[in-house]
Amino acid sequence: MNQRDELHRCRPLIRHWVRSWNVSGVTENITCEWSSRLLRSLGRAYPQRMLVRLSLLLKEPLYSSLFEEVLCHEVAHLVVFQLHGRAATCHGPEWQRLLQLAGFEPRRSYITDAPPAKRDRAFVCYDHVCRICQTKRTARRPMRNWRCIACQNAGLDGKLIIQSRPVNRKVSNAE
Ligand SMILES: [Zn+2]
Ligand SMILES: [Zn+2]
Repeated sequence: MNQRDELHRCRPLIRHWVRSWNVSGVTENITCEWSSRLLRSLGRAYPQRMLVRLSLLLKEPLYSSLFEEVLCHEVAHLVVFQLHGRAATCHGPEWQRLLQLAGFEPRRSYITDAPPAKRDRAFVCYDHVCRICQTKRTARRPMRNWRCIACQNAGLDGKLIIQSRPVNRKVSNAE
């Protein structure tokens, strides 16, 4: 494996957070892997498999600074599931507290990881947000070909983060 691959950072980071969360033992067997198919979100947690998938987008300069936050976001989902099972809501107070303890603002705006397929399509729309200039366009379907024109004109790749949300509600940073 490439020594410079970001995945080698997962183990020590997780160990560090687990210590600050005081939940050692819970997370011994977490697996982290890249996914080339995660495009709508930067990461996804699979609590029953103790698995975190990270989008290959995190290798790109535009998103690489988010690596630790996304990893923490997903690992916190695994820990909440281990501690509370299905009793805890996805981005509820237990999850938020773990993010705060790790030093992150518990936001979920561009790293939504709830599978959109589970929602009623009629009530879902998709925000396409430029991480550089925050320009946002909304569509009823994920438009993977859309780019931020302003940023493209400035020589950047103009890639947008696509995030689904209920049609009649604004996305907030907290539950
Ligand atoms: Zn999440
Ligand atoms: Zn832009």
